[in-house]
Amino acid sequence: MKFICRIILIFTGLILFHISYFPSYCKNVVVVIDPGHGGESMGGNIDDRIERDIDLITSFAMKDRLEQYEGVDVYITRENNTDKELTRKERFDFAKEVDADFLFSIHYNMSEYHTLFGSEVWVASKGTNYVKGYQFATIEMQALTELGLFDRGIKNKLNKDRDGEYYGILKYAEEYDIPAVIIEHCHLDEERDSAFWNEESYKQFGVIDADCAAKFFGLSSSSLGIDNSSFQNISVEAPSKRLDRDYTEPEYCTLQINDNGDYVTAHIESYDPDNYIQYYQVSLDGGNHFGRLEEWTDRNSTSIEFDIPKEIDKDYSVVVRAMNKYDLYLESDPVYVEGLPKPVEVEEIETAATDTDYQTVEIKSTDEEETNTLSPIFIFVVTLVVLFVTFNIFFAIYITNSRKRKRRRKKNHETR
Ligand SMILES: [Zn+2]
Repeated sequence: MKFICRIILIFTGLILFHISYFPSYCKNVVVVIDPGHGGESMGGNIDDRIERDIDLITSFAMKDRLEQYEGVDVYITRENNTDKELTRKERFDFAKEVDADFLFSIHYNMSEYHTLFGSEVWVASKGTNYVKGYQFATIEMQALTELGLFDRGIKNKLNKDRDGEYYGILKYAEEYDIPAVIIEHCHLDEERDSAFWNEESYKQFGVIDADCAAKFFGLSSSSLGIDNSSFQNISVEAPSKRLDRDYTEPEYCTLQINDNGDYVTAHIESYDPDNYIQYYQVSLDGGNHFGRLEEWTDRNSTSIEFDIPKEIDKDYSVVVRAMNKYDLYLESDPVYVEGLPKPVEVEEIETAATDTDYQTVEIKSTDEEETNTLSPIFIFVVTLVVLFVTFNIFFAIYITNSRKRKRRRKKNHETR
């Protein structure tokens, strides 16, 4: 009997143990979507693009998509643009209230000089929040770059004292121990991201965010035909100390120019010990004006090469900038490039053109009007000459006749 009682007790204990843990086995993943800004705070705002509104479009698209997956509860921190902006704390109080497993902060970007383009994800600087943030961000960045966006990286930033997170959202993520990321989908002010400035793309971003979150949590959807059950997140180690952004520009930036006749090949060497070179920029006037930022295509390389076409009779003073992951740059020394000489044919053509100009002037100068004013003078001169000649002829005849007459008179006188 004692034995049977013991068996019953053990079984009851095991059942109770399983029951007490059962809810946590079956508990849905809880996702909080947090559209940035709201109320008076518009975020990035250029032309007709207001980040506050766009954040909401993307967030709702993310919510709609994620709700099509099984085993997930989705919440959103704000549902309109008219209510007062939520504080960071209010956003996280809400996340805590619903027992969130992750908070996704939805944003779009703009830069001071409207020069930057591409996507980035900001993650926490330490602990499991860093690990989970980085794992999700890896999936997200891959999806965004596959869409054609420039990869601006997965980033960290600490506050001024460097003892805590810079971004309020990540600060509260740490305090409340709820992982969070800030997704900056694209820039709203640089033309290379302009293909995404439409409602369809803002919604597409939401779908991508949802699919990436689903992958991260291993969620599947029978209605969408997506099975993420075997998806493995990359392994990420928690950093031993807080990770911060880079505060120093690249270590060096040198420029070499090779002359190839019609064009020159520019060769930049640059290196940043803290991260990598992300963009470069070229000036042809000694650093007064720089062209747009260009992609530093190979981030594992310390060099990049490109051609600059020469121009006729125009010298360059080439200066380049190498810019790192955190948009800090170093400038090279200027290198002088002599322009192409003026070709001879061009000069002849120019001379010919000048001749034609003279002809035009001449044609103008022999206009009818001018001809009319010249011809009376001509007639007058001719008349004078004719008169002069006639006068001389008559005068000569007169002289000859008068001499003959004199001679005749003399003869008569002698014969008398
Ligand atoms: Zn924002």
